[in-house]
Amino acid sequence: MEAEEFRRCGKQMVDFVADYISNIRDRRVVPDVHPGYILELIPDQAPDEGESWEEVFKDIERVIMPGASSPACTELEMVMLDWLGKMLQLPEVFLFSSKGLGGGVIQGTASEATLVALLSARNKILSTFKTENKVGGTMEKLICYASVQAHSSVEKAGMLGGVKFCPLPVDNNLSLRGDVLQSAIEKDRAKGDIPFLVVGTLGTTNSCAFDNIKELGEVCSKENIWFHIDAAYAGSAFICPEFRHLLDGVEKADSFTMNPHKWMMVNFDCSAMWIKNRHDLVEAFNVNPIYLKHDKEGQIPDYRHWQIPLGRRFRSLKMWFVFRMFGVKGLQAHIQKHVGLAHEFEELVTKDQRFEIVFPVILGLVCFRLKGSDTLNEEVLRLINERGKITLTPTRFKEMFVIRFAVCSKNTESADIQYAWQEICYISTQVLLEGKL
Ligand code: PLP
Repeated sequence: MEAEEFRRCGKQMVDFVADYISNIRDRRVVPDVHPGYILELIPDQAPDEGESWEEVFKDIERVIMPGASSPACTELEMVMLDWLGKMLQLPEVFLFSSKGLGGGVIQGTASEATLVALLSARNKILSTFKTENKVGGTMEKLICYASVQAHSSVEKAGMLGGVKFCPLPVDNNLSLRGDVLQSAIEKDRAKGDIPFLVVGTLGTTNSCAFDNIKELGEVCSKENIWFHIDAAYAGSAFICPEFRHLLDGVEKADSFTMNPHKWMMVNFDCSAMWIKNRHDLVEAFNVNPIYLKHDKEGQIPDYRHWQIPLGRRFRSLKMWFVFRMFGVKGLQAHIQKHVGLAHEFEELVTKDQRFEIVFPVILGLVCFRLKGSDTLNEEVLRLINERGKITLTPTRFKEMFVIRFAVCSKNTESADIQYAWQEICYISTQVLLEGKL
């Protein structure tokens, strides 16, 4: 939506809310709908082509208002997580439409999703020990794994969950492999530790590397360990046919997360999480005081048992708006454009002999550096960010200081890539001319 259209539609929405407040006494206090009512009013998958705001706007009264905040908030979320799951071609077991135990939920952030997975996995293994009357199954012995390249939120989840966290080494492609995981598990079991969770990453923060989730999934199945996949950033790209293969192996996961708020134009916060067996969540999070009981229990998921807080926001509304206004094709085009722009930048870097690309460009992240010392690159990055025309962030690759160029704004165009490159060249030339570093 361009700025002027946003201004017009925003005002229309403010009028809608003001009219709601003025006429609130004419509405029912509690809704008069039956479980599953929303699916009778909207399609079970996202439209291929985008729709106009006018079409979306008129459905707010038709679809949402009869269900007020609840159950509309829950039901729309269920349908949106199925829409997105279908766009990603997630295995049926993760979808509500399979009528099995799977389904999706919106968490605030990927960090929260990882913590929720960890707490569920922890509860599952400790309950098994209790049921089987096994001695020695105590929390201090629980250990979880991820690659050394995994996001810090995995280590943090371990800290918050009171379990050990073991970062595992990666191969030359910065990928965690099955054999490394297998030997760590064997070594730790021999010490008396209890491996209970593995977090695989698809699209690491540092360099957009991909763990080998097929191999990790195999090991987790064999060893009976919860397998969570964190695709916070890269997950959006899997809606494109040419990137979907990167998700192959997800069928072995117990839970999977990606952030529509990172790369799908859905505003923060919105982290989508799918789970194969909802009982694993509910058993870890269910506390049911009398004031929260209701007569529809069991007929529809109670999302309060799928998350840490009790109250929840109506986050699926923004997914519904975005998915409808862009359509699947529009969302795919957005990702494809960004990946194309990243390759355009990569080509500029490659053509300039002073620079090097340090890691293959797969999605929208380009990791590059000036051939030369870390100090030289650190100084270039410092000056670029100090001038404030563009902003870049650092990482380390094989002990080298590396600069990250990420294409992520909805508004980025080829002209912005050229502009950024000119700025990088200008600063780099200055620093090289000074010749001190
Ligand atoms: N996981 C990965 C791979 C990420 O790249 C990030 C953020 O950059 C996160 C997790 C944390 O995301 P959030 O801010 O949603 O917790």
